[in-house]
Amino acid sequence: MRIRLDPDRCQGHARCFGLSPELFDVDDYGYSSLNFEGEVPTELEEKARLAIANCPEYAIEEVE
Ligand code: SF4
Repeated sequence: MRIRLDPDRCQGHARCFGLSPELFDVDDYGYSSLNFEGEVPTELEEKARLAIANCPEYAIEEVE
């Protein structure tokens, strides 16, 4: 599984970081970024899906 975070859509709620701190970094303003490259570790795929489902800006998506 791979995911992408679109920084142009991100509005800085840090909700993804709150739900899945293993996968995201957050800056001082709440804007988030992925803290890894490549595939989501298998054991964190459920957390990645949780973050996708809870981003109110649809800034996180699964990519092929
Ligand atoms: S939940 Fe979405 S909008 Fe909020 S910080 Fe994360 S990526 Fe950005």
